[in-house]
Amino acid sequence: MNHKTIVVGGGIVGLSIAWELVRSNQTEVFLYEKKQVGSQASWTAGGMLAPISELGFQEDDIFEFGRANLFVYKEYLHRVSIDANLQLPLELDPNGALIVATRRDDKDVLIRQFEFYKKRNLNVQWLQTNELREKEHLLSPTVYGGIYIPEDTQIENRELCLALKQAFLNCGGNLVEHAAVYSLYVEDSMCRGITLDSNRNVLADGVVVATGSWANYLKDMKIRPVKGQLLILEMKEKLTHVVRSPRIYLSPKSNNTLKVGATSEEVGFENYPTAGGMLDLLKYAWETAPCIYDYKFLELDKKEIYDLHLVMVEAVTNAIVHGNKLDGEKSVHVTCRITEDGLLLEVEDQGNGFDPTVIPSPLDAENLLKVTGRGIFLMKQIAQNVSYRFSTHGTALQIVLNRKKKQNQTE
Ligand SMILES: Cc1cc2nc3c(=O)[nH]c(=O)nc-3n(C[C@H](O)[C@H](O)[C@H](O)COP(=O)(O)OP(=O)(O)OC[C@H]3O[C@@H](n4cnc5c(N)ncnc54)[C@H](O)[C@@H]3O)c2cc1C
Repeated sequence: MNHKTIVVGGGIVGLSIAWELVRSNQTEVFLYEKKQVGSQASWTAGGMLAPISELGFQEDDIFEFGRANLFVYKEYLHRVSIDANLQLPLELDPNGALIVATRRDDKDVLIRQFEFYKKRNLNVQWLQTNELREKEHLLSPTVYGGIYIPEDTQIENRELCLALKQAFLNCGGNLVEHAAVYSLYVEDSMCRGITLDSNRNVLADGVVVATGSWANYLKDMKIRPVKGQLLILEMKEKLTHVVRSPRIYLSPKSNNTLKVGATSEEVGFENYPTAGGMLDLLKYAWETAPCIYDYKFLELDKKEIYDLHLVMVEAVTNAIVHGNKLDGEKSVHVTCRITEDGLLLEVEDQGNGFDPTVIPSPLDAENLLKVTGRGIFLMKQIAQNVSYRFSTHGTALQIVLNRKKKQNQTE
């Protein structure tokens, strides 16, 4: 195959295009990403797929587009899950969404919205306060009614980014991370490739610009950045539906987290959280579901950061020194993901493996003063589970750090 395509930008858009292109088998695909794929808006987002909830009064085209996309999303997730070799396939949330009136004057707004939906024959239901609270008992008793929208849904967007990356690689895509594209390389009025930061040109038959908010830097596309702030809480009692008010959304995820989003601010590329942004999100979330008052902010505390650091240093050192035997031609692949069991780290080397049953114990008298040989012992003290998978390609060490269990153990 001598056709080559370059995709610039590895958000959900660039990843999806690059993966579809590579699986078409008609072109070699190189994805260039200035940071890590899936680390920008696609990682921060709430994951709402809500063409009905977000339908504005004069947005017919975008609504039809969003709704048509929703019909193919299930099949898209199915194909990504297969190509990424996921044990648990990605799925759409089947519970639908609620939009509730948390203030008296919200009710009139929502009634108008409901009538607008009805005129378009959309599948929606008006629910009184008690009916809403039967569906979602953690809603505030003071809500003034609202709309149930069974068709709107959500995804785990972070899982989707990770899966798309894996699917792209499994299908033979070439990923170049930490490589900023400086400009398109144009000759005789034709785009012939890209120019990297280092002034090096890379030629290609086709270039796709998927750089999200930064698109204007490569090509004049009249795209502007809009800042969104979102916060993540750990749920004590679980909300079961996406809940919206006219001001925010609450999006409960299967890993027990609750995303509260999102502000919408015209402040250019400013990207830090502000006190005002957090204040608004918390205030509006609390008036919708007062239970969030006791939810924990999801921030790692210092002990957890220390444990995580220690485990990573031991695991990666073992992989380089003992697994790959310091062979510079071999690499170590590290994956980290949040699952229902906790934080799952996987460190994969390309060595010949070893017999875990014959590792000397660092607690034996003759080993007590040795400064090496304690890595696996330390990891086992900190992590809930440490296991190995041996294959002809190398050894994969899997470590589960379960924050909840660890806390209970120390209590
Ligand atoms: C707080 C928040 C909540 C949101 N919630 C939702 C929601 O619930 N539902 C929804 O549908 N949408 C939501 N969105 C919007 C959604 O996140 C974006 O529409 C979507 O992620 C855009 O994807 P993307 O791939 O275009 O952009 P990005 O994910 O930003 O990816 C663009 C990539 O291009 C890379 N890049 C840029 N310039 C270069 C360069 N010169 N060279 C190489 N790489 C480059 C960047 O590093 C980045 O990784 C939300 C956004 C925010 C901020």
